[in-house]
Amino acid sequence: MEDIFDKIIHGEIPSYKVYDDEDVFAFLDISQATPGHTLVVPKADVKDIFAYDDELAKKILTKLPIIARAVKASNPKIIGINILSNNGVAAGQSVPHSHWHIIPRYENDGLDLPGAVDHSNQYDEKRYKAIAKSISEQF
Ligand code: AMP
Repeated sequence: MEDIFDKIIHGEIPSYKVYDDEDVFAFLDISQATPGHTLVVPKADVKDIFAYDDELAKKILTKLPIIARAVKASNPKIIGINILSNNGVAAGQSVPHSHWHIIPRYENDGLDLPGAVDHSNQYDEKRYKAIAKSISEQF
């Protein structure tokens, strides 16, 4: 079934397109967390990062720096960029078609993104070793 991003890619609903090629479509996020907030979407119907194969990952991820540079170059007031992808409802994914947010940052823009929480005061060597081990065993 077509999701909202398929409809945007196919031009069935309007978008503010910024980039389009064989593999990728990029357009302004309707929410504009900051001015220039852009979504980079694989044209392939892939739900989230867990469903990427190596070929798709190469096609999409090589485009992120190119599009990020264009966004940055579009406005001299942009002094940084966050790139993030929400995967799974628990992570804040609201559209079940993989996408990458490119979010320009401006002086004093007040944006409070997840990931800034610091739990380093709860550092515990044994626990960190166990976590790292359980991840490294999955490859
Ligand atoms: P996420 O919450 O990470 O799944 O991001 C989905 C994003 O899609 C949100 O930031 C929405 O603002 C954006 N979005 C939803 N519908 C549209 C649309 N029709 N055009 C542009 N952006 C959209």
